[in-house]
Amino acid sequence: MTLWKKNWPRKEAPKSKDTPDRLRELRKEITVMRKQGEPPVKDPGSFAQYTCDLCSTPHPVSELRQCVLCGRWACDACWKDEYYTCKSCSGLIKIHMMKG
Ligand SMILES: [Zn+2]
Ligand SMILES: [Zn+2]
Repeated sequence: MTLWKKNWPRKEAPKSKDTPDRLRELRKEITVMRKQGEPPVKDPGSFAQYTCDLCSTPHPVSELRQCVLCGRWACDACWKDEYYTCKSCSGLIKIHMMKG
């Protein structure tokens, strides 16, 4: 089947307004603090505790989650399940949604 292989002049597809562009813009505003998979910082004052990158309080590693956008480790209080990011990134996401 070669029917579809005709040399059509290739026009750029019109860019859709709500997909990856907005995410890309958002990512520009977010400072990546840690690489994905990088472990949280060990709390020097306690055994087997790690520091929340947002509020700087120690927590067991099981209570910390890494933000998919900035890579910071956040405790429960600094986490937003809604977007699966830390509080600070979820704030930016909200602002971007309002813009759109
Ligand atoms: Zn915290
Ligand atoms: Zn974040």
